[in-house]
Amino acid sequence: MKLAIVVGHNAHAQGAVRQDTGETEFSWNSRLADIIKERAARFPSIEVRVFFREYMGSTTREVRDVYRQTDLWGADATCEHHFNSHSTTSATGTETLTSGTKSSVHFAEAVQEEMLSALGLRDRGEKYVSREGRGGKSLHFGRAPAILVEPFFGSSPKGLAATDEHHEMVRLADAILLGAQAAFE
Ligand SMILES: [Zn+2]
Repeated sequence: MKLAIVVGHNAHAQGAVRQDTGETEFSWNSRLADIIKERAARFPSIEVRVFFREYMGSTTREVRDVYRQTDLWGADATCEHHFNSHSTTSATGTETLTSGTKSSVHFAEAVQEEMLSALGLRDRGEKYVSREGRGGKSLHFGRAPAILVEPFFGSSPKGLAATDEHHEMVRLADAILLGAQAAFE
């Protein structure tokens, strides 16, 4: 299967910031995407390509453009990477957003389960998001079953502790690949 990894946000507007290192969503998830690409060598049934959103001054155009590229590549599934943030440090946990189609829900459930065992954070579940909702464009613009992952809160000491070591990023990368394998094999 062809799995498109989409790095959330863009180089110009990089999203939320980790409270421990100051690293942005765009930067951290770009590094995670590299690890997913490396680890994909262990998953012969999965071909991974990483896609970046380009700043265009309009989120709609930016998101439409990147999912046009995943469609052109012939992605069988897309997974867009973010992390959460909240004004209170007590907000914590892992969640996966789904477009609500049968295969997106199936993919979201598989990846959510793997991320929970990889990170050991609270289960915030899978959340259906409409085209108009937060992250909805990323879930609905492409043809392939789409999910958007928020593995942790960059504002939570627990979320930060679970994701600040290289081996923890490797476990998270494997969780995405294991979830894709489980959902699409
Ligand atoms: Zn984000």
